[in-house]
Amino acid sequence: MRAATYVRESTRAQEEGFSPDAQRQALEQYAAQQSVEIVARYSDFESGTKETREGFQQMLEAAQAHEFDAILCFHTSRFARDAEVARRAKRQLRNLGVKVIALNLPNLDPESPEGHLLEGISEVLDEHYSRQLGWWTRAGLREKFRQGKFVGVPPLGYRRVPKKIIDDDGVERPHPQADRLVPSEVAPIIREAYRKYATGQFSTTDLCIWMAEQGLRSTYGGGPLAASGVRKILGNRAYLGYIKHKTEGERPGDVEPLIDEALFEEVQARLRERRTGSGTSAPKSFRAYALTGLLRCAACGTKWYGYTDSGGRSYYRCYGPGSRGCTGEIKFRRTDNLEGQIEEMVIRNLSLDAATKAAVVDALRGRQPDFEKERRRLERQLEREADLYRLGDIERDDYLQRRDSIKAQLAALPPVPLPLRQQQVLDTLDGIADLWPEMAPVARKALCRSLLKEIVVQDGVITAIQPRPEAMAVVVSLLTPPTSHPHRDPAGAPARRRRRTPASTGRCCRRRRGRGEPASRPAARTAER
Ligand SMILES: [Zn+2]
Repeated sequence: MRAATYVRESTRAQEEGFSPDAQRQALEQYAAQQSVEIVARYSDFESGTKETREGFQQMLEAAQAHEFDAILCFHTSRFARDAEVARRAKRQLRNLGVKVIALNLPNLDPESPEGHLLEGISEVLDEHYSRQLGWWTRAGLREKFRQGKFVGVPPLGYRRVPKKIIDDDGVERPHPQADRLVPSEVAPIIREAYRKYATGQFSTTDLCIWMAEQGLRSTYGGGPLAASGVRKILGNRAYLGYIKHKTEGERPGDVEPLIDEALFEEVQARLRERRTGSGTSAPKSFRAYALTGLLRCAACGTKWYGYTDSGGRSYYRCYGPGSRGCTGEIKFRRTDNLEGQIEEMVIRNLSLDAATKAAVVDALRGRQPDFEKERRRLERQLEREADLYRLGDIERDDYLQRRDSIKAQLAALPPVPLPLRQQQVLDTLDGIADLWPEMAPVARKALCRSLLKEIVVQDGVITAIQPRPEAMAVVVSLLTPPTSHPHRDPAGAPARRRRRTPASTGRCCRRRRGRGEPASRPAARTAER
């Protein structure tokens, strides 16, 4: 097989440990192992906000001339910064009959449903995480957990101790408390929120407002916290100093406790008391609209778009066809309302069925050399040398020499094995419902778009959802009620959008209302204005 390699150089990638050299090295190694002949090498450089695509264009032209049969790239996300662009590029190449092999998914047939699905999810998560967490370059969540490290964005009220500090004499050395979570400047607000809530005098909504007044902003969206976000804060055991891992459970971590056990338990008791009551969401202001372009009006068939009124309240609304506009009874809905419906109908129910998950895991299980041990050994050695130097046991020149030698050995190791990351992707997929309340609208939008093709709104209520074909496996379970269902045809095809007259409106799909938004009652319609 003749192949071209594609490397996208990025200053950010270098920070993440995916230096262009490491990428190239990994690609050459893969080609040698698989007896693939590399006939051309392309690369692009990305700097700051600009992305040049000359190398990519040249590669496309060569692909059109059938100069090679496959393209090797390091990681699907290396194709472009933006998931949508990456996907389009891959589609373009595949249409030319050129296989795209990404080293993170070498055994996955991209044309299979699992391949399609995983690739899509992978891209969305890359986009969401690569900026905010950067975890996917790390040796793995489990390893971090075993080391007692907190993984991910620190909860509000914490900051992470930087990895390195610069000595007085200008030498950079590892911080002895690297990665520890310590109270940030907003920690007092979090403590006070716990105290307030424990008194029983405040609801989570009250706390939302109070916290917003204190200037507290969500880590993800940068907007005021919603009630669901406040509830998460009040139940987050990280404030007790614990870290958790999906399969390993919980343990005391390298996290300075912010709240004592007694206060935490009091708050949990209050939360349980109130759980039966209906929570209300705090007003949110969105700059992006997660469902824009996905919502279609059942009454007139046009799409709904987001807008924000002068009071800062955001809505989705139908702009109706022609001069008469939409004929539907309810032509707009608060964004919180519709996104809440999607959260309940789709996001909370997202899961891979066992068969799909197994197929994906099988496809991912490749032969991966065990370089991890060696990497960890070298990293420990590096720390030890730094400690020795710090304690004055070795001379500076000695230290620098040893450090450089270890660093060189580390650099010579192939990149961190990737299948681990795929496990993380699968794990995160199961946990995505927990992320949703804090997700920035852009991330929500990326997620919704990767899963859904269309959402039908009738009288302000979502009555049908059409998943994207490649996401069918994750979404479809929630569209399969036990009994016969008007949105399914007898052959069992998934739900499809149907334009229905109000008279024929089945209530089958209407979700149970939550969040105190009785949307179909006339009183609520006026309240929406
Ligand atoms: Zn309409």
